[in-house]
Amino acid sequence: MTIPLPSYVSRKLFAFFVCSACTVIPIFAQPASRTSSPTRRTKSSRPDPRYRPPADFAELQAVAGEVAKATGHNIHWHLELGSNPGPLARIHGGLENCTIYIHPLAARKIPPNTWAFIFGHEFAHPVESLGTHGAAKPSDELKADIAGARYAMAAGYRLDAFLGWVLTEPNQTSDTHGSLHQRVQAIAARFGIAQKVVQAEANRYSNYRATR
Ligand SMILES: [Zn+2]
Repeated sequence: MTIPLPSYVSRKLFAFFVCSACTVIPIFAQPASRTSSPTRRTKSSRPDPRYRPPADFAELQAVAGEVAKATGHNIHWHLELGSNPGPLARIHGGLENCTIYIHPLAARKIPPNTWAFIFGHEFAHPVESLGTHGAAKPSDELKADIAGARYAMAAGYRLDAFLGWVLTEPNQTSDTHGSLHQRVQAIAARFGIAQKVVQAEANRYSNYRATR
């Protein structure tokens, strides 16, 4: 259930798309100053979110708010920085009160467009009742990927760019989440996105990174 942290962040292991059902990592309370209410900003005021890092934590809150709204459910959510080392993202709680914890270094590096799909995946667990009890399994994780992708796309984010980003990460296989790159193929097939389109996005992201 772990993959390497993106190479530009650290080589330490952390879990990819990990939720309350699939991690045993304890949840640490964050200082009050790190807990903020969702903020609203218009997407049109921000530059293309596909490749660049987030402007700030407030932008990630805005993205999470857009994706939460796109679920069609009234989710009472919070976004907080998690622990390092720790998983990329995990959700704790139900629709009436949940918190998504995100890796503090990844919060500064991973593009907002990618976060939209990660948030979508995490919200899909309570919304679709996937893996909220017992151990996560690959079929539930794929369902969360697909439901989460629908939310993120409804909020205006680009699935091809997200899948391309995933392809730039090392492939990993686990009992709970399956193979990362196979998940990319399955999601792309489900939404009718050609592999060459995903690969082109991966190349664009790699080029962006190379110039930083
Ligand atoms: Zn999950």
